[in-house]
Amino acid sequence: MIIKTIPLSHLTTIHLSGYSYLNIVESMEDLASVEQDYFIGGGSNIIIKDNFIKLFKLSEKFSYIRIENDMLIVGAATKMSKIMQFCINNSISSLDFLYGVPLSIGGAVFMNAGAFQNSIKDKLIYAKVYLKGSGVKTLYCNEINFSYRKTSIKGIVTEAAFKYEKDDRQNLILKVKKNISTRVKNAHIHNTFGSVFKNPKDAYAGKLVEDAKLKGFIKNSAKISNRHANYIIGSKETEVYDILFLIDKMKNDVFKLFSVELEEEVKII
Ligand SMILES: Cc1cc2nc3c(=O)[nH]c(=O)nc-3n(C[C@H](O)[C@H](O)[C@H](O)COP(=O)(O)OP(=O)(O)OC[C@H]3O[C@@H](n4cnc5c(N)ncnc54)[C@H](O)[C@@H]3O)c2cc1C
Repeated sequence: MIIKTIPLSHLTTIHLSGYSYLNIVESMEDLASVEQDYFIGGGSNIIIKDNFIKLFKLSEKFSYIRIENDMLIVGAATKMSKIMQFCINNSISSLDFLYGVPLSIGGAVFMNAGAFQNSIKDKLIYAKVYLKGSGVKTLYCNEINFSYRKTSIKGIVTEAAFKYEKDDRQNLILKVKKNISTRVKNAHIHNTFGSVFKNPKDAYAGKLVEDAKLKGFIKNSAKISNRHANYIIGSKETEVYDILFLIDKMKNDVFKLFSVELEEEVKII
């Protein structure tokens, strides 16, 4: 395991201020020392409360993608940008619904990431998961419980295999453009961690926050988006406590006005 001191702005897509001690997992043996509660993937749906906390992350050795036995095999540390490039070059459409989301595939499997009426569970064949005490196990899709942004996985995903679905290359390029422009129009792609809250049953978290008149609400350099009220926007100077303040305010105001309890989608370490 390699240990480094890293600015949080390099680890999270919201680009927080502060630093962490990062334990970089280089091998399967290293996985035995990982503390799951402090594990970070692409950092695209996570905020870190304390400075100099001990985090764990897979190294670039877990970043790979290939076609094998009519499946798309992806290492857990592989970022969506690399997957998108590979899939377009090989006319593969399996994961196109996630184009433009800055995730690692391990985090996407763990969270059952989804968009445009699809989610990981629709495409996954199996995930290789490191389980404390048992080593790496192959869990087939039907052995995992999936729900909205949640799975029953209790270990570290090291690799995932997906259905091998093809599309015309030009169609795929058009889809990338369309997905990314929809995202840019409706929400944000930089300096954010995506949705703050899960959508409650029969409602949209963003609409509730908007109806609570919180669009554009600012706490120092953290701001509730003017475009999509379920997004918080930050910068390299953003203190995590300003984000936590906004999250509390969104939750409290929505509860007071509409008696709806919002549940965080973002993971807070
Ligand atoms: C601009 C933007 C748009 C987004 N849009 C969407 C969207 O449309 N749909 C959607 O579902 N999400 C969206 N997200 C949220 C985010 O991309 C997903 O939740 C994604 O699945 C998180 O993956 P990650 O690797 O970044 O995980 P992280 O944020 O690093 O971690 C999230 C959780 O996953 C766990 N985890 C990470 N890697 C692993 C692993 N290998 N094994 C086990 N556990 C792991 C972490 O411990 C943590 O609990 C968006 C985020 C941003 C910034």
